[in-house]
Amino acid sequence: MSLIKKILVANRGEIALRIMRTAREMNISTVAIFSEADRKSLHVRYADEAVCIGPAPSAESYLRADKIIKISKELNVDAIHPGYGFLSENADFAGQVKEAGLIFIGPSAHAIEIMGNKLAAKQAAGKYNIPMVPGTSSAVTDRVEAKVVAASIGYPVLIKASGGGGGKGMRVVENEAEFDEQMDRAVSEAISSFGDGAVFIEKYITSPKHIEIQVLGDQHGNIIHLFERECSIQRRHQKVIEEAPSISVTPEIREAMGRCAIDVARSCGYYGAGTVEFIMDERRNFYFLEMNTRLQVEHPVTEQITGVDLVRQMIKIAEGEQLAIRQEDLFIKGHAVEVRVYAEDASNNFLPDVGKLETYVRPQGNGVRVDDGFEQGMEIPIYYDPMIAKLITYGENREEAISKMTRAIDEYQISGVQTTLEFCRFVMQHEVFVNGTFDTNFVNQFFTPKNLLKQPDTHILQLAAFMTAKISAAGDIARPTQMEPDAAIVSKWRARKLNSN
Ligand code: ADP
Ligand code: ADP
Ligand code: MG
Repeated sequence: MSLIKKILVANRGEIALRIMRTAREMNISTVAIFSEADRKSLHVRYADEAVCIGPAPSAESYLRADKIIKISKELNVDAIHPGYGFLSENADFAGQVKEAGLIFIGPSAHAIEIMGNKLAAKQAAGKYNIPMVPGTSSAVTDRVEAKVVAASIGYPVLIKASGGGGGKGMRVVENEAEFDEQMDRAVSEAISSFGDGAVFIEKYITSPKHIEIQVLGDQHGNIIHLFERECSIQRRHQKVIEEAPSISVTPEIREAMGRCAIDVARSCGYYGAGTVEFIMDERRNFYFLEMNTRLQVEHPVTEQITGVDLVRQMIKIAEGEQLAIRQEDLFIKGHAVEVRVYAEDASNNFLPDVGKLETYVRPQGNGVRVDDGFEQGMEIPIYYDPMIAKLITYGENREEAISKMTRAIDEYQISGVQTTLEFCRFVMQHEVFVNGTFDTNFVNQFFTPKNLLKQPDTHILQLAAFMTAKISAAGDIARPTQMEPDAAIVSKWRARKLNSN
């Protein structure tokens, strides 16, 4: 007999839908909350009940813990799933949910609090033998002292906000001359973005890979790991392409990293789904970075290679069940790649390009999964993260997953906003991505907007072929058997690009 019969999803978009779908499979009814900007959203239509929670800005809607709890009580909700972003890593919220007699589908407030602070996380993890990036173990305030530490670590160093997240509040310092300036910036960014000016110093690993381990823990002390995800393709220290498993992780490293991740989770009495992030240097030494105490954006690649529905596990754990999966039951089967389709202009520093989805046609077919929250004709609001969708492909091996991804990207039809799709296609075909020698510098090192111009755009070619067919059907123009790229038919982006030259 399950305890949870009704879940309120305190989130929006693709992740709200993702969670509701599993709830429905488990015969759990769902409540959506939405802001005035999301009135027509798919997650609102999908839910059994939906409540408008306030105006568009998230501070007045998705971040209103008080309202969310009040609605939950009124609608006899048993449990709240926070998704990612918004209130998902807010220890106070997790505490308030519990105090209100509701179940928080996630870890304890205590675990969120410790791991939400990068310094506290390192301190907790320090109880175990976990490799850490060389750096300070407490906040730095005195510049003179800080520079002595930086010199002893060796430049370049990274100044990092302890309360940071989403790639913000990080400053690379190349040498002592620029230390003061970067420290000022890091502190002011930390205060404005996270309300906490505490910063610390870490050695800047120059050619790292970002590798993270998915963990699941129950409330009885059992913790398992579900292998790694490779997330090194980033812009602004934020992931755009992820995959599982990682081409650079050997079975030995996987086991060692998995053990460390379980220890990190143990160090804060973790239960629920969580992710322990590491960076790995060129010599394959790995170091603990931080732990994210929530469902991660890129969780689908892990689901694909393990066959485990992470949301279902989260719900069962929240109900107090013991983990039914043992470590030895888990195997990696096949390979999965995910690209994040953002409404961003890759040719213009990946700046958000919100607007209306004039055309929106998803790719389909064998090995393709699309997690999204939009439909053709909908607007991408400027108030939130500009992610349109996550496109995930699964194949027997990496090569197959990549070729499926290229095919799926070509099938994806989006117009009205710029997207990261063409950029992702560029990555899929880049030698360094294919051979696996890439690191987190990939975008800075290999990508310029010019690369996008070289991509043959099959969507445009198909459109051209279609138009030519129409013309030839209507008149007497011979129909070419094969279409060549036609200079007259260019995408909006290219047209703009050509005009500006
Ligand atoms: P993940 O860590 O799951 O790979 P991201 O780093 O892109 O994914 O973050 C997931 C979501 O959470 C994004 O919407 C991001 O904007 C948001 N986010 C992450 N950390 C913070 C934070 N400390 N403050 C505000 N938003 C955050
Ligand atoms: P956030 O909370 O913003 O996710 P992380 O500590 O997870 O912060 O770091 C985000 C990204 O920044 C990493 O994936 C990596 O690309 C880069 N990074 C973080 N720490 C280091 C470091 N010490 N050396 C090099 N790159 C780093
Ligand atoms: Mg991180």
